Amino acid sequence: MIMKTMIRVHNLTYTYEKGRPPVLKDINLQIGEGEYIAIIGPNGCGKTTLIRHFNALLLPSAGEVQVGEFNTRETKHLREIRRKVGMAFQNADNQIVGMSVEEDVAFGPGNLGLPSAEVRRRVDQALATAGLTELRTRPPHTLSGGQKQRLALAGLLAMEPEFIVLDEPTASLDPESKKKVSQLLKTLNSQGIGIVHVTHSMDEATLADRVLVLDQGELVADGNPRDILSRVDWLKSLGLAPTYITELMWRLHQAGIDVNTSIFTIDSAV
Ligand code: ADP
Repeated sequence: MIMKTMIRVHNLTYTYEKGRPPVLKDINLQIGEGEYIAIIGPNGCGKTTLIRHFNALLLPSAGEVQVGEFNTRETKHLREIRRKVGMAFQNADNQIVGMSVEEDVAFGPGNLGLPSAEVRRRVDQALATAGLTELRTRPPHTLSGGQKQRLALAGLLAMEPEFIVLDEPTASLDPESKKKVSQLLKTLNSQGIGIVHVTHSMDEATLADRVLVLDQGELVADGNPRDILSRVDWLKSLGLAPTYITELMWRLHQAGIDVNTSIFTIDSAV
């Protein structure tokens, strides 16, 4: 299958403060249209710094980042870059701008100068996809943590992005809400939206088509979840803890016993 490249990272090095060692070191990476990527790595290894380059929140100290046809240094294309790549953060509270759920979702498309019928269509569709239609008139601050994360995603969806980049969106959620957000990401991806998901959860990483591992600012692995997450001892040496069930599944796999189901499904069911 020939996939068009959506995000191209070329020799990316990034330093926050002059004279300090770089936080990202010579990263090379291509992400194709519609791919579902998980990024894992120990705390402080540079995951957030890397993904902030994907919609020009940060610009490389050296090297280039290309989003679609645009180089992120071309500030005149900033709006187009940010429309292509939407970004959601761990703390959904900081992303709330509306007095009601529907107003919050309408904020982005409203700012694009679209006709009001089109804004309404996008809001209805985004709320339905995120499972928030029944909560549309609620003040956002009355939502649960998981509902707020889905609200943040609905706000991004209403912008009709090509990619959604998420920085540990489920970190503070309970297991049931985590599952709902993961299911939503899977649904969005099946609709053709590319996903870049920074996560601490190896189970969430199994949902991706491809897993990237960062360590001390370097891209140390890039491959399919099965290959990468089966390296349980190596992941542990990086300080990444596979969950008990993930480890069990992969030990079984190494012993030649394959359980034909998603690890994530099993973990959620336990
Ligand atoms: P991760 O997302 O993997 O936890 P980050 O990208 O947040 O890692 O951080 C990578 C490194 O950059 C860490 O050492 C962190 O302390 C440092 N860092 C992050 N943000 C800043 C900043 N605004 N100024 C200076 N250093 C920073």
